[in-house]
Amino acid sequence: MINNTIKHLPKKHRYTLGAVLFVTIVLFIFPTDNVSASRNVKVMQLEPGVQYELPVPELNSEGILDESLFEAEDYITHKVKRGDTLASILKKHKLSAQTTYKVSKAGEHAQKLKRIKPSDILYLHIDEAGQLTSLQYPITNTETLQISLVENNYHSDIKTKNVEKIIGFGQGTIKSSFWHAGIEGGLTDNQIMELAGIFGWDIDFAQEIRRGDSFNLAYEELYVDGEFIGFGDIVAAEFINQGDTFTAIRYTDGNYYTPEGRSMRKSFLRAPINFKYYVSSNFNPRRFHPVQKRIKPHRGVDYAAPIGTPVVASGDGKVIEAGYNRFNGNYVFIQHGEKYTTKYLHFKRKAVKRGQWVKQGQTIGYLGRSGMVTGAHLHYEFLVNGVHRNPRTVELPKAKPIKASEKDSFLVVADKHQSLLDNNKRIMLAMK
Ligand SMILES: [Zn+2]
Repeated sequence: MINNTIKHLPKKHRYTLGAVLFVTIVLFIFPTDNVSASRNVKVMQLEPGVQYELPVPELNSEGILDESLFEAEDYITHKVKRGDTLASILKKHKLSAQTTYKVSKAGEHAQKLKRIKPSDILYLHIDEAGQLTSLQYPITNTETLQISLVENNYHSDIKTKNVEKIIGFGQGTIKSSFWHAGIEGGLTDNQIMELAGIFGWDIDFAQEIRRGDSFNLAYEELYVDGEFIGFGDIVAAEFINQGDTFTAIRYTDGNYYTPEGRSMRKSFLRAPINFKYYVSSNFNPRRFHPVQKRIKPHRGVDYAAPIGTPVVASGDGKVIEAGYNRFNGNYVFIQHGEKYTTKYLHFKRKAVKRGQWVKQGQTIGYLGRSGMVTGAHLHYEFLVNGVHRNPRTVELPKAKPIKASEKDSFLVVADKHQSLLDNNKRIMLAMK
């Protein structure tokens, strides 16, 4: 089964898998002797939910890990401090005002030197005659501004490094909260939020997550020169919510689709709460006891969350009411096309005005306890042709399919990514 997974990796990494496992074992056996050697090798433990293949940094002819190119060529490292300017830095290294002037006029890219900020690093190469021959300024993980002296004049250009992408995997089962399960599954905060974002049209992350729900995802890990620089996009994900399986596949257009090619985006979000705020707040909705005495029969869904939690428009539309009364407190009503209306009550503060057009996901107010309530919550109503419906179960307009011209190539991607998810699931089962 592991072999199947390895087949999906670029050929080069099939070798490195073996190499890293070897390094891991060596370090394990000789932990103290190899401390210095481990400096440039990222060693990952073999844990469920964590992919364990990594590129190994290049070794030179003597089998020693290459030190930074800059050090090898006698570059001076200057860490930018508050108040530093190009002029003050060069002056500190005994370079003339004329050099500063010429460097700053070294073409369009050199303008980037005006935007240096504390803790950026400049690498300077100064020859024996005290002349600046090269300046390197890493702007991002992959881009470096390079200024070089050519026949008494400075030239600038941007050196770009290749980013290598490797597929990593994560998986988790919810015991206490989605957030905890994500952290346990080895995901970053951003990845947890991205995952919730991908399924935000199908799953109500504020109230409908249950113990035993699970997720499984494949994502990009980015490397430059064999060094891990961060995570890329989630390429495929599966979420099982109360027995229903939802699967999303990322396509080259940057959007997510079901394996059959329907967009994950729909006209309405499942929950009008900013899930990023909600998911990370660790708030337990089960502790919430909504309004005790009701004036009217209850015709909506109550979302308990901390006061100030952003509440968002569940769909694109026009604000038809934005006001205050003693029952609703601060409230907003939105009309979506001819058929649908959504209502949001008890805001601490409104963020939109009557007559304004809003986009799906746009903040329209902040959760509060204004009006006839006993505790802070959002009261949300969903109306179809003027009739109240349960927003959690109402049949919503179907999502758009992928463009017909893209369908065939999408299905190839979907098939490949689906098998990544399936393999990951099988490996995890085998490791249990
Ligand atoms: Zn209510």
